[in-house]
Formats: sequence, structure tokens, C-alpha cells
Amino acid sequence: MDLRTGVCPLCQATAVHVLDGALGQTRLPISAVGKAVITHYVCTHCGYTQDFMESPKDRGKVAEKWPHVTPGKPAP
Ligand SMILES: [Zn+2]
Repeated sequence: MDLRTGVCPLCQATAVHVLDGALGQTRLPISAVGKAVITHYVCTHCGYTQDFMESPKDRGKVAEKWPHVTPGKPAP
């Protein structure tokens, strides 16, 4: 379960808030020429946060350009 459900997976509170396009957007540089929109979720009860790159197009660019992390082998 993640914060996008509106319920905090850590404390089960429903005090979940989101920063999306309405208040402004955070953009994460994903390559020399591109930036991806990041949506932030915060549980205001316990402080847990999660970020999501919602655009499949942006995720595709990351999959193309960023090194893959092999399960069981932490990235350097
Ligand atoms: Zn919480």
C-alpha cells in the first residue's frame, strides 16, 4: 500500500496530502536535457513521505538512461 491510496502504510492515518500541479511542480533532472514531474505525498500525522514519477514517458526515459539496480546488489 502506498500514500496514493489516501491511507498511510506506516501509521494508518488518513491525513495524506499531495503536492501536485495545483500548487506547483517539482521537476527532477533525469538526463542532460530532460526533467520529470514528481508528485509528492506526505502523511501529516507521522511525517512519512513518498514521491512518484507518474508519467510513463518520464519513467521510460529513466529506464533508458539510468543504470538498473540488480535485486540483491546495492548500487555503488
Ligand atoms: Zn503516517
